[in-house]
Amino acid sequence: MTTTTGTGKRALVAGGAGFVGSRLCERLLDEGCEVVALDSLVTGQRRNLRGLAPRGLVLVEGDVRRPPALDGHFDEVYNLASPASPVDFLRIPIHILETASVGHRRMLELGLEKKTRVLLASTSEVYGDAERHPQDEGYCGNVSTIGPRGCYDEAKRYAEALTVAYRREKGSDARIARIFNTYGPRMRPDDGRIIPNFFLQAMSREPLTVYGAGSQTRSLCFVDDLVEGLIALMRSDEERPVNLGNPVESTVLDIADKINALVGNDRGVRHLPLPENDPRQRRPDISRAVASLAWTPKVDLEDGLARTYAYFRMAAEDVSGEVGRVVAPD
Ligand code: NAD
Ligand code: UDP
Repeated sequence: MTTTTGTGKRALVAGGAGFVGSRLCERLLDEGCEVVALDSLVTGQRRNLRGLAPRGLVLVEGDVRRPPALDGHFDEVYNLASPASPVDFLRIPIHILETASVGHRRMLELGLEKKTRVLLASTSEVYGDAERHPQDEGYCGNVSTIGPRGCYDEAKRYAEALTVAYRREKGSDARIARIFNTYGPRMRPDDGRIIPNFFLQAMSREPLTVYGAGSQTRSLCFVDDLVEGLIALMRSDEERPVNLGNPVESTVLDIADKINALVGNDRGVRHLPLPENDPRQRRPDISRAVASLAWTPKVDLEDGLARTYAYFRMAAEDVSGEVGRVVAPD
């Protein structure tokens, strides 16, 4: 079942009130899909979906672990439900494990019931503190089951295994996206990840909190690029896991310098201890996405950071907003 356009389709986006999910909902609405967002709002925000209801978006408040009855057919089911910030790994690890195991199983069952393809939003964290660089999909990873990230990394590894098991045993139609660090508008200001923390600190004229020496690397993908990749994968014939990310790699210090320069903050950085198991290097090998999906990211870091800064400025002026608090691990 390969499809090319969304017009007239009906899609379910679990985790649709989150940062990536809300952008995906908007993009699907743009092409004429009817969209249902299923979200418990544990880390999502209603405001992310502001303005989308009149365009046909329906928000169903509910948990993927115990989903409410969802009437009608779906042409596509995207499962993005899962907290994704290291701050949440420490705060609600059991919820995270259950969401990717019990919750993803419910989404696979829904896919079977509705005879619909299900896309799992997996993660580069399945590679852990990678010893192969860049990471291609054949790399099996270096993950600590008992470290502070274990709840998330192992949950997503289990969700991938479950997806493949459902395909083998029950004939599920499924796709697996391994998403690398993504940033952009609608990130929760207090979600604790690098981009919201650095923008809020720079905008408050504070030094940016660099964990460790700041020589660890990440490859940052702008959210619009990621969303194009998710849709392309959903509609492709590629059954193997696919890395989706921007292969341009930066150190944490480079990212701090760019954000301070963009915001005009002269307070520099201050170093805090590096959290346990913080991956040292991360960069996707995206050859499979290029070959199978004809997908490559288009937005460079300067442009993406400028668009993200515009969002955080707007959010800071929003009287109903929740901007203000930076979260760091204890
Ligand atoms: P997010 O926290 O902004 O969004 C996740 C959404 O899922 C939230 O709206 C949350 O309320 C909802 N949710 C969580 N548990 C739920 C449950 N049990 N039932 C129903 N809803 C639930 O995070 P995000 O950055 O938008 O991430 C979206 C997806 O992409 C996640 O699955 C994450 O693992 C994956 N991912 C994201 C990144 C990234 O850099 N943003 C990287 C790799 C993977
Ligand atoms: N980081 C940092 N300061 C912060 C937040 C994050 O130095 O205020 C670092 C963190 O240690 C990691 C990188 O930035 O090396 C990316 O962190 P994030 O939490 O955004 O994502 P992840 O570690 O899951 O890739």
